[in-house]
Amino acid sequence: MKALAKLEPREGLWMVDAPVPEVGPDDVLIRVKKTGICGTDIHIWNWDDWAAQTVPLGLITGHEFVGEIVEVGAHVEDLAVGQRCSGEGHLIGKTSRQSRAGKFHLDPATRGIGVNEQGAFAQYLKLPAFNVVPLPDEISDDIGAILDPLGNAVHTALSFDLVGEDVLITGAGPIGIMAAAVARHVGARHVVITDVNPDRLALAGQVTDVIPVNVAEAELAETVSSLKMTQGFDVGLEMSGNQAALDQMVKAMTMGGRIAMLGIPPGKSPVDWSRIVFKAITIKGVYGREIFETWYKMIAMLQNGLDVSRVITHRFPVDQFEAGFAAMTSGESGKVVLDWTG
Ligand code: NAD
Ligand code: ZN
Repeated sequence: MKALAKLEPREGLWMVDAPVPEVGPDDVLIRVKKTGICGTDIHIWNWDDWAAQTVPLGLITGHEFVGEIVEVGAHVEDLAVGQRCSGEGHLIGKTSRQSRAGKFHLDPATRGIGVNEQGAFAQYLKLPAFNVVPLPDEISDDIGAILDPLGNAVHTALSFDLVGEDVLITGAGPIGIMAAAVARHVGARHVVITDVNPDRLALAGQVTDVIPVNVAEAELAETVSSLKMTQGFDVGLEMSGNQAALDQMVKAMTMGGRIAMLGIPPGKSPVDWSRIVFKAITIKGVYGREIFETWYKMIAMLQNGLDVSRVITHRFPVDQFEAGFAAMTSGESGKVVLDWTG
């Protein structure tokens, strides 16, 4: 089968001819139709320090996918050949305290497909049946291919009650933009999204009804006063991984504000802790998606009018994967989807 693997410790991915994975008794084999390119895949493409320390050479990469089950293991009873599906790419253990309490997304033994284990950038993917998420017909293959990052957005956005709240999202990357759409969908009052990239802010406005602010050019405080917010934002969703953005968010929060942090700051970033204390701000770190509550809520919202389709800006047949990665690194794209069916 065709697959995209990390063969050499330098920039790039290589199209290889790999054996179709053999499924164990508790696994299914999925014929992959479409995959999304993630920021994580860009780290692996670039072979930065994180990738070099984490990813074994030879690994098939990728973790955002949609496909169809073509084989089920001997112990798999509730899934059948022909089922359209996506799936959770975090492979969890079942013995930790967290897993035994049903908090699967907090299992410390989690391993990621396309990062630690063979991934989804391939014509066929082996996945534990436990991780499979069957898809209803209303969810297109394109959206099916980006449920993993939409799940990051949903998990972060639903960390706190947003109904009637003023929400600040820092970072209009694909996940920040999708989080803005989720915040609108669930009934936030004002949703402001910041970035320093005008293309990304323009895309945010095409995907959903948000107030974009280019913080390289404008003061966030002016937006706060023009919206007649008395104190500041009730909820912050940090989705840039940028230190300046987090500082700006802490400053723009109201007393008792709540911040969910998905963005990964570089190294040990300094934070104005006294401001966090005196404003009595709650900060929650967010990792991945809740398994499987986020998937349930995300699919239900998509069935009930949540529309993030315009966040996909580029589509390529997989043979043009280099163009796909170039689009992702250009900074002008939203999500980029590769088609494996050709
Ligand atoms: P992305 O890199 O595409 O988007 C980040 C955006 O932040 C960019 O558009 C960038 O221009 C913008 N930005 C840079 N400086 C800024 C500033 N000062 N103010 C506001 N915006 C600024 O990333 P993405 O794929 O949308 O992911 C969002 C973040 O979430 C990333 O940091 C990513 O590493 C992280 N992430 C975390 C998890 C997790 O499980 N915790 C999962 C997926 C992604
Ligand atoms: Zn991803």
